[in-house]
Amino acid sequence: MSDSTANKRISERDKKHLWHPLTQHKTHSEMLGIARAQGALLYDEDGKEYVDGISSWYTCMYGHCNPFILERVMDQMQRLDQVVFSGFTHEPAVQLSEKLIEVLPNNQEKLFFSDNGSTSTEVAIKMALQYHFNKDQKRNVILAFEEGFHGDTFGAMSVSGLSVYNGPFEEFFIDVERIPVPTTENIEQLLKHLKKRLKKNNIAGFIYEPLVQGAAAMKMHCAEHLEKILSLLKKQEVLLIADEVMTGFGKTGKYFASDYLETKPDIMCLSKALTAGLIPMGLTTCTEEVYMAFYSDDVAKGLFHGHTYTANPLACTAALAALELLQTDAIQQNIRDIMEWHRKFDEEIKHHPQVSNTRQLGVIYALDLNVQTERYGNLRDKLFKHFMDRGVFLRPLGNTIYILAPYVTTREQMERIYGAIKSVVGLV
Ligand SMILES: *Cc1c(COP(=O)(O)O)cnc(C)c1O
Repeated sequence: MSDSTANKRISERDKKHLWHPLTQHKTHSEMLGIARAQGALLYDEDGKEYVDGISSWYTCMYGHCNPFILERVMDQMQRLDQVVFSGFTHEPAVQLSEKLIEVLPNNQEKLFFSDNGSTSTEVAIKMALQYHFNKDQKRNVILAFEEGFHGDTFGAMSVSGLSVYNGPFEEFFIDVERIPVPTTENIEQLLKHLKKRLKKNNIAGFIYEPLVQGAAAMKMHCAEHLEKILSLLKKQEVLLIADEVMTGFGKTGKYFASDYLETKPDIMCLSKALTAGLIPMGLTTCTEEVYMAFYSDDVAKGLFHGHTYTANPLACTAALAALELLQTDAIQQNIRDIMEWHRKFDEEIKHHPQVSNTRQLGVIYALDLNVQTERYGNLRDKLFKHFMDRGVFLRPLGNTIYILAPYVTTREQMERIYGAIKSVVGLV
């Protein structure tokens, strides 16, 4: 570090060269410098601590800098750091495939690696389109939910319904049709529409966030309704793509949200908590049947997609250690505890006049404030500041406040989150 930068704050030095994601720098120029993190806590450059109430975008579910995971990765680091995964293979990838297949829905057989959540859905979309192409079926439409979110690369962005900021790119999107999330009111209508629509025989796949739509402010729909849609589509050979990038690895109270459903996905997308927040990685898994559509003497029938860091041994090792932790009694007990704490908190707050809706699935908890606002209006900024002042990191979406804290969050830390939320509605 040169003398001129040595004493300057991180947040000051940041401004010179950095361009942050999802940020309009002209109106939001201040970034908070984070110096370190441990367990459920983040520490800023002044030493102030914050409970990470959203597990840094649902990644660090076992806590930041988890010593068990760190040790495994540091050990792996000294043996094999990175190697080409085309023509080569290695123990961490093989072991991860063996261990993950044991917990995935039992029709999943093959794993395809990539780098993040967006690439995992991008791969899934390409798989679905090429599956039909390889079978000489002309199916070029992807079906998706309104308000779904599947990532920021082109295919992923195309299928995402939350496209408020996608204006400049819309004319380059792949062919997508949207359906509303099912409710008691619309389900019959929706099924009728789909039955009619399926006669055209041109829908290649259906991508959905099962049960919880994360970026749509933790909107939830019930398994029974989704089940009806999935079983109908499955009969017509529409490949079901469960995007479990957010919901995966215990957050819904089961290993995967798809475990609540009878009809299993043909393809699944995983990332975020997959590697416990340590190293980015994405996974697209599929059934034997999907895989076999690419298995051929004809080279061109293969899936010609690959990223340089595919199956990085360190990321695979982090994923293995994370999975081992998820399966421990201790973490499973933590998950049950948090579910129970949320239920009790919900009892306290759900009838408050300033709260219009509350919902919970597993350790995911959300409430809507009874106010009218635009999605990224001023309220969001005010709430954010209110929480940060109280040592709690939450990222409200519009008038929705949600909690998705690490499994290792202590009772006292969770109480701090609840207290901060209660103070918003004037309960404390
Ligand atoms: C976050 C997310 C993605 C995109 O993942 P990135 O790693 O941010 O590219 C895709 N799908 C869902 C459901 C997500 O929550």
